[in-house]
Amino acid sequence: KAYLDYNATAPMREETVAVIAQAMREVGNPSSTHQAGQGARRRLEAARSALAALVAVDPTAVIFTSGATESNHAALAAVDGKRLVSAIEHPSVAAVDASCPPIPVTPDGVINLDALERMLRSYRPELVAVMAANNETGVVQPVGAIARLVHEAGALLHVDAVQAITKLPLCVGGVDGADSLSISGHKLGGPPGIGALILAPGRRIRPWLRGGGQEGRRRAGTENVPSAVGWAHALASSVDWNAIALLRKRLEKEVRLLCPEARIVGEEAPRLPNTTCLITPGISNEAQLMALDLAGVSIGTGSACSSGKVEPSMVLQAMGVGADDARSAIRISLGWASCERDIDAFLSVYESMVGVRRRRMGLSSG
Ligand code: PLP
Repeated sequence: KAYLDYNATAPMREETVAVIAQAMREVGNPSSTHQAGQGARRRLEAARSALAALVAVDPTAVIFTSGATESNHAALAAVDGKRLVSAIEHPSVAAVDASCPPIPVTPDGVINLDALERMLRSYRPELVAVMAANNETGVVQPVGAIARLVHEAGALLHVDAVQAITKLPLCVGGVDGADSLSISGHKLGGPPGIGALILAPGRRIRPWLRGGGQEGRRRAGTENVPSAVGWAHALASSVDWNAIALLRKRLEKEVRLLCPEARIVGEEAPRLPNTTCLITPGISNEAQLMALDLAGVSIGTGSACSSGKVEPSMVLQAMGVGADDARSAIRISLGWASCERDIDAFLSVYESMVGVRRRRMGLSSG
């Protein structure tokens, strides 16, 4: 088995699972004043501090949520005025307000800063949302430059940092200048169903879930202490992204040798060290996914499957990739447990797939 779909979700370490199991045995509501409750409060606040340290903010700036989808919704719903979002956002941003005009990207998948500047002047948004790095292509966005333009126009900047956090240096309110960041537990070796919205110093946000007054009266509901504890535990184990970048380099080099027509999306742009979006013309991503899955290799596709119809990825379309090529794109994403054997397993299936394609094309042209 080879798991190569970390951008969808990362496996949890055994020790993290054990820490969560232990936290689930410990009773106590952080809002209760008895000792059991205060114990839970201490565990929750320690987890909050670990997250705050990740982006160098005060712990009070960290609001726990049910995941980055909720964090993105909350950030966008916090303003009454107009919103501007990039053309390559995750659906949890893109679907919030279908009336937002999309900020275009270059063929390499980088937000077009000239277009952004023009749109800021003509559309006058109150908030702009961009992602720090794209989940399908791994292309990294120039968040610092975007923040300067957005702030000059008097707007707020929300950054979906789900894929970038820990792989790139990011600092809310610091050099990158975001006013808020979304992050997600299960992409970072923690459990699914927990995330955070992190606010820059001085940024206030109106509550989006009312009730018990938890999370500084901004997001009511009894806190998910075991998941927060598990997430903080996962963050304490560092990942060697340089080693992962070397694995990816080998993968891309060998793919090119096996299939010179294959293309790596966003290759000329800065990319996350773990992600390859690969177009192999003439083989549909469904066929690739199935062949790889049969061999126990899990990869992702950018296609959203809605009502039984597989649509080509919106992200690739925004980059000007044609529909046929977009239907041949797969995503290979690596993480903390990835090793040479995983790459071997992928390459062995890939070699037979491109061999079949070559024979088929040879037959049809001869
Ligand atoms: N934003 C990006 C870029 C993602 O990749 C994901 C995960 O699919 C999300 C947001 C949503 O995160 P969650 O699953 O925690 O709601």
